[in-house]
Amino acid sequence: MTCVLVTGGCGFIGSTLVRRLVGDGHDVLNVDALTYAGLPQNVADVAGASNYSFLEADIRDGAAVAQALEAFGPDAVMHLAAESHVDRSIDDPMDFLSTNVLGTAAVLRAVEQWLPAQPVGRRDAFRLLHISTDEVYGALGADGAFTEDSPVEPNSPYAASKAASDLMARAWARTWKLPVIVCRSSNNYGPRQFPEKLIPRTIISALHGRPIEVYARGENVRDWIHVEDNVDALLRVLERGALGSVYNIGAGNERRNIDLVRDICGLLDERAPRETGATADLIAFVEDRPGHDFRYAIDNARLAGELDWQPSVAPADGLRQTVDWYLANRDWWAPLLDDVYDGGRLGLGG
Ligand code: NAD
Repeated sequence: MTCVLVTGGCGFIGSTLVRRLVGDGHDVLNVDALTYAGLPQNVADVAGASNYSFLEADIRDGAAVAQALEAFGPDAVMHLAAESHVDRSIDDPMDFLSTNVLGTAAVLRAVEQWLPAQPVGRRDAFRLLHISTDEVYGALGADGAFTEDSPVEPNSPYAASKAASDLMARAWARTWKLPVIVCRSSNNYGPRQFPEKLIPRTIISALHGRPIEVYARGENVRDWIHVEDNVDALLRVLERGALGSVYNIGAGNERRNIDLVRDICGLLDERAPRETGATADLIAFVEDRPGHDFRYAIDNARLAGELDWQPSVAPADGLRQTVDWYLANRDWWAPLLDDVYDGGRLGLGG
């Protein structure tokens, strides 16, 4: 049994992680500011569990983070809280710099000041996992894959803010010997992803009979991992990862956006057919995202080799299960469209 402080545990990946940790019997403190993307209903299944607690706090509030560490006494911090949507970072970069860079620095600083006063056993076993992204590497051409040694060349404000926080984690590991490990995950998909992201946005647009917007000609490539596999890999890194290391997390599932969107349309044709025409008839090519990275592909040889990790969700099964989840959970996403995000285009940088 371990005590884990999770930041951002009401978001898409964080809530999947929290549910897994609580289910496995760990004590969990979820620290989340409940931004537009932080939804208490994402952790409703575990909210009443005796090994789960929640603190509404902003990671930029260093005193609140310090108090949480003092009160909870974690064996690990898994830091996921962030502004996470590239398009929003183009419309309004400052929130990204504030939360992702300064917020991460506040978490690192609080841990750095709290840890030395802890009993030797806890101090030696303690780990801080910083959850970064493959987007810090920038874009690939048609060939090759990012390794952990690829240069960090972010292109969007989101990616730049994550790169800054990723390097900050490195700086705290080198300067204060903080027991930090950095995970760079590829694109996640699965249940409870906020409707602004490609897969839920495609499903929801289709269900409303609205144009399914695909940027440019849909030729950009992403490397997709199911959120349960990502969480599984994060926990493997927490258990066995080498201090000070970086681990790429990917599942070897590269898809062009247009092919992914067409797959979703095919699934919807089977499960929720339109009265007239195929779902793919709704596909509309729209103006590209400024600075749109062409291709991401993750080389996960370090994770697979050193930590003996493999994904377990087959891409076709994961996508079908995700589509089914959105079909069955209209109650989860429909209110978000009314109150938080109307499904419209973001990221043209107006
Ligand atoms: P998300 O947007 O769904 O959730 C982010 C969570 O962080 C929300 O619960 C939000 O309330 C919380 N948060 C935001 N600002 C905060 C602040 N200042 N203080 C406290 N809490 C705050 O994001 P996600 O998709 O679950 O991503 C989680 C992490 O994983 C992020 O760090 C992201 O950069 C990283 N990541 C995501 C992906 C992906 O495909 N989704 C891929 C690689 C890495």
